[in-house]
Amino acid sequence: MSEGSLKNMGDLLRKGATMLSESCPDCNTPLFKLKDGSLLCPMCNKPVVKVSADADVGGMAQQGSIDQTLLIKVKEIQGKLEAETDPEKINALLETLMKLLDARERVRKLA
Ligand SMILES: [Zn+2]
Repeated sequence: MSEGSLKNMGDLLRKGATMLSESCPDCNTPLFKLKDGSLLCPMCNKPVVKVSADADVGGMAQQGSIDQTLLIKVKEIQGKLEAETDPEKINALLETLMKLLDARERVRKLA
């Protein structure tokens, strides 16, 4: 452990930071929790963001698949639209297309 990091640790403790039992993923130095709740590694001298491994993975996968389904439908409608010559049917297809695009927009906002 370098003198620099020891000095840093001293400074952190003086500022009211607390040493945690968790350590830095990069250098294994004990992490400090600052008064504002953020985590800092005194060795790397950078904030550490804890990422929990299973955070929201299920939800994201599900949203991905809805988006995927909508995209397939958009392409189907697009294909029909290209072949269609009847103005009324084109209108109906366009309406469906707009609804699909709107739905995709909504799914994305949930992410
Ligand atoms: Zn570190």
